[in-house]
Amino acid sequence: MTHSDRILMGPGPCNPYPEVIEAFGRPVLGHLDPEFISLLDDTGERLRQVFRTDNPLTFPVSGTGSAGMEAAFVNFVEPGDVVVIGVNGVFGGRMCDVAARAGAEVVRVDAAWGTAIEPQQLLDAHPDPKIIAVVHAETSTGVRNDIADLGAAKGDALLLIDCVTSVGGIPVELDEWGVDIAYSGTQKCLGVPPGLAPLSVSPAAVERIIERPQSWYLDLNMIARYVTGGSARAYHHTAPISMIYALHAGLGVLLDEGLVASFVRHQSCGDTLQTGLVEMGFEMFAEQGHQLPQLTTVVVPTDRLPAGVGEADVRRQLLGHYGIEIGGGLGEFAGKVWRIGLMGHTARRRNVTLLLGALGEILAG
Ligand SMILES: *Cc1c(COP(=O)(O)O)cnc(C)c1O
Repeated sequence: MTHSDRILMGPGPCNPYPEVIEAFGRPVLGHLDPEFISLLDDTGERLRQVFRTDNPLTFPVSGTGSAGMEAAFVNFVEPGDVVVIGVNGVFGGRMCDVAARAGAEVVRVDAAWGTAIEPQQLLDAHPDPKIIAVVHAETSTGVRNDIADLGAAKGDALLLIDCVTSVGGIPVELDEWGVDIAYSGTQKCLGVPPGLAPLSVSPAAVERIIERPQSWYLDLNMIARYVTGGSARAYHHTAPISMIYALHAGLGVLLDEGLVASFVRHQSCGDTLQTGLVEMGFEMFAEQGHQLPQLTTVVVPTDRLPAGVGEADVRRQLLGHYGIEIGGGLGEFAGKVWRIGLMGHTARRRNVTLLLGALGEILAG
C-alpha cells in the first residue's frame, strides 16, 4: 500500500476529484494573461452559484480556510468594535482569537461542544454589535449551527459565517439567509486540495470595509481591484494559478453533479455511516438533529477495544492496514471521540462500507 491509495476520511483534506488533479497539470499562465483572468472570473461565477449569492465580490482568497477567516475579520473590525461570536468548538474559538487580534471587543456565546448554538442567544448577546459571527459546520464536533434566523433578525449587524466544511456538503444560502460575509476552504466538501479560501461579501458589507485593515496581504480594498477590476486590473500579489485551475475544475464537477445531488450524496453516505456505527454499538457525539452528514463524531468505545489497544492504535491500524485515515478528537475531547469525514469525492458508499468493515475487524481483535 502506498500513500496514493489513501482514503481520506479525516476532517480534511478529502480525496480530490480526478478532474481536479488533471487541472493541476495544465501549463501555468501569467496571472494577468487574459486567458487566466477569464478563468478567474469564471471561478468567481461558479463560486456565486455554490454560495447561492449574487455578491459581485466573490473570489478565492490566496491561502487556506484560516486566511478566509482572517480576511473576514480584519477588513471589518476596528479597535473597540463589538463582535458577537458563537463558540461550540475549535473554530468558533479561533474566530474569537482572530477578531480579538484585530482589536474587537469580543462577546462570546458559548454552547457545550457537541450541541448547537441557539440563534436567539447570539441575537440577545449585545444590543448593537457590529458583527455577529458563527461557524455553520463545526468540524471539531460534527455539529451544524443554524443561520437563517440570524439573518432575519440581525438588524444593523453584519452576519459573518464560516462555511469551510458546509459548502458543497449541506445547503448554504447566503442571499436567502441574509449573510454578509462568508468564507470557505477548498479541501473539505469541494473535493480540491487545501490552498484557497473562497470568500463572498455582500454589497452592504462592501460599503463597510474599513479603510486601512491591519493586514496588507488580505486588504480587500486592494484585492478587489485585482479580482473585479475588469481591464483596470493591477498586480497585487501573484494568484496561485494552478490552485485556481484546480478549484475551477472542482466547482465544475460539483455543478455538473448538481448542488442538490451532492447534498443528497453526502446525506445518504452520512446516514449509512451513522446507522452502521450505531448498529455496531457506538454512541454518537453530536446532538441529534444537528449532526453533519459530512463529519461524523462518535464516542470512542473504550470498553470495546481489544486488550492493549488504545484509540490511537485503532487509527494507526486503519491507516497502516487499510489505508483509511480518520481523525481524533480535539481539545478536551482528544482521545475521547473520532471524527470521520465523508467530504467531496470521499463521500462514497464504498468508503463507508470499507470503514465499517475495517473497524469491525479491528475491534474483533
Ligand atoms: C478546516 C476549517 C477551518 C480552517 O481551514 P484551514 O484550511 O485549515 O486553514 C476553519 N473553519 C472550519 C469550520 C474548518 O473546518
